[in-house]
Formats: sequence, C-alpha cells, structure tokens
Amino acid sequence: MVRMIAERSPLPRGRSTGRYTAFTPKNEDTRVRCFYHGETEAVGTCKNCCRGLCRSCAVDVSGSLACRDHCEKEVETIVRLMAKSKTAVATTAATMRRNAIFYALSGVIFGATGLLSTSSTLILMFEPLAVLFLLMGLWSFSSARKYSQNESGSPSA
Ligand SMILES: [Zn+2]
Ligand SMILES: [Zn+2]
Repeated sequence: MVRMIAERSPLPRGRSTGRYTAFTPKNEDTRVRCFYHGETEAVGTCKNCCRGLCRSCAVDVSGSLACRDHCEKEVETIVRLMAKSKTAVATTAATMRRNAIFYALSGVIFGATGLLSTSSTLILMFEPLAVLFLLMGLWSFSSARKYSQNESGSPSA
C-alpha cells in the first residue's frame, strides 16, 4: 500500500535524488572555501546567500556574517526581522499571562458577588460569568505556557 503511493508520486523521488548528489562532496577536501577568493579558507557562511566567506570578505552584522558589499543590507533585514519575531513571541506570552490573571480575578469577583447577593436573579447572572471567566483564565494561562515553551526551544536537562 505504502509502496504503491510512493511510486505514484514521481515528484519527491526525483527531488531527493537531486538533493543527495548535491550534498555528496566531490573531493576529499571538505573545508569550505571563500566564494570570492577560491584559495582562501572560509571563516563562515553568509546568512543571506550561504556562500563561504574568508576573513576579508565577511562582515559582522549584529552577530551574523554577510558578504562585504553584497549582502550587508539583506542580512541586516534578516537579523532585524528575527529579533522582531522573537520579541513578538515574548510579548504575546506576557500578554496572555496578564490576560489569564485578569480573567481569573474577574471570575473570582463575579463568583463572590453572586454568592454574596441575596437576589436569585443576580446569582443566576454572576455565577455563569464567574465560570466563564475562570475557564478563559485557565485557557489563557495554558496558552501562555505553550508559547513560552516554544520560545525557550531546547530544554536543558
Ligand atoms: Zn551573501
Ligand atoms: Zn574572500
């Protein structure tokens, strides 16, 4: 069954063969050379075009390497975008945590108001609201935890 499906789709097969040949080193020297100076050994690769760069070609853009006079602007944009998305995740997690506290507090206040009131109409009004807000608080809190787990990435044992 599985084999039949694999044979029916020729696209991934052709692609994987191409990829394997591309990654196989052609000679024994696997050291990365500078793209601009074939003889010089590379100290790193450009964050934008992934070409090997020697010491004189590499420019440090906020901790990432870029081709001098070629990819500096692009790498700067990449670094800025990455930093932005990182802060966005952190802000979202923080906002969710704040929302969770707000919802939980509202739930407690609504619940207390409903329990303290003598009117059955008020109890019927406030108790469902209390339950709703407590549930929203729980949901926000678990979402915030999921977010910050994704953010921290590799857990240290
Ligand atoms: Zn480059
Ligand atoms: Zn070079």
